[in-house]
Amino acid sequence: MVPSTRDALNSRSDYGAVLISGASFAGLATAYGLRRLGYRVTIIEAAPGLRRGGTPVDIEGETIDILKRMGLIDRVRAKALPSRRFAFKNADDSTLGSMGVGGDQASEVRYEIHRDDLLDILFDAVADDVELLFGRSITGLVERADGVAVALDNGEQRDVAVVVGCDGNRSNTRRLVFGGGDQFTHFMGGYFFLKVVAETGLLPADTTEVFRTPGRMAMLNGYDDRTDIGFGFRTESEIAYDYRDRAQQRRLIKDRFGDLGWKVPAMLAAVAGDDDFYFDRINQIRMPCWSRGRVVLVGDAGYCVSPLAGLGGSMAIIGAGRLAAALERYPYDHASAFYHYEDGLRPFVEQIQERAANDGMSTMCPADEDELAERNREIAAGDMGW
Ligand SMILES: Cc1cc2nc3c(=O)[nH]c(=O)nc-3n(C[C@H](O)[C@H](O)[C@H](O)COP(=O)(O)OP(=O)(O)OC[C@H]3O[C@@H](n4cnc5c(N)ncnc54)[C@H](O)[C@@H]3O)c2cc1C
Repeated sequence: MVPSTRDALNSRSDYGAVLISGASFAGLATAYGLRRLGYRVTIIEAAPGLRRGGTPVDIEGETIDILKRMGLIDRVRAKALPSRRFAFKNADDSTLGSMGVGGDQASEVRYEIHRDDLLDILFDAVADDVELLFGRSITGLVERADGVAVALDNGEQRDVAVVVGCDGNRSNTRRLVFGGGDQFTHFMGGYFFLKVVAETGLLPADTTEVFRTPGRMAMLNGYDDRTDIGFGFRTESEIAYDYRDRAQQRRLIKDRFGDLGWKVPAMLAAVAGDDDFYFDRINQIRMPCWSRGRVVLVGDAGYCVSPLAGLGGSMAIIGAGRLAAALERYPYDHASAFYHYEDGLRPFVEQIQERAANDGMSTMCPADEDELAERNREIAAGDMGW
């Protein structure tokens, strides 16, 4: 029988305090694992609440095993999305090629679940057992022999045994401990926008449609009650914009896609005037080492594989599961645990990053007419490559 969350949480001794920066997949799953080991866990999240939105998350392989061990797989299964029809479209909405994709509720092999549903499931699993501070950020970290002194942006100071940076692609923890700038960021030559809206009627339920022109891609995911509206585009180099200025980012998408046909005018209308969306450069994070002293990184903060890999959520949960397993194997020895965590996971991360770097961009946004024609020929021949 799977023990209840609370039984599992109460079954271990107290190892000390741990502070996690970021309350998304990496942060919440890490919190669960470390709480189960007996750590007193505080999560600090910069946003005023959980950050919602985004495309569905794939749950497969080791992620399923970890969610089973967490006792959460039944809740995931209950929210699994039905499999979808995936179609590449021409400007006149005729279909270039199509295939079935997505989760398969009938099998144990792969599930797809709304990003928000998975966040809620992970949040519910830890909310009563960890301290959660929203609207907070770390401003300074000083390592001592027996712990880390952490300064928060409200002036408070916390002394903890270990700090786990789960604060995503633009990780604050990484910046504070390993240095700022973009020294670990590998820009992959494009940007991705995603907004989840109420059902638009732009496409049938349980369908994904993709329309590509050289350097640009417009995507719709249709579900029962929601539509994901996605735009991807290529750039030679990074574009200058203020990542806090949402109106500027909306204008940027409108300017880049305003001249396209297909369903794009209706898609732009559906995302107008609302600042709650995901927009970021497409990049990977590649670091020579994921920990320093008593600070360790999990998920996008340490090894973002990029939206092109389609595995960011899973990778964060796998990272959290591996870190907890390493700390269980080496209790009171964070150095050995961090080494074991990275040594075991790095080959898998590098394999996924390599694959996304080789094929991802040309699949999402073929660079020019020739590459697009080549991709379209492959699609017509039944090789979707997505
Ligand atoms: C709103 C949102 C939508 C997304 N949509 C997509 C998508 O459509 N497609 C895709 O491929 N990927 C998307 N992603 C990225 C995807 O969620 C990650 O690749 C994956 O989940 C890895 O999880 P993570 O926990 O490592 O990082 P993230 O999910 O990025 O979470 C990082 C968390 O850290 C928090 N944080 C940031 N800075 C600080 C700070 N200074 N202090 C404390 N907390 C901080 C963030 O608010 C966030 O909650 C999205 C991410 C977010 C936040």
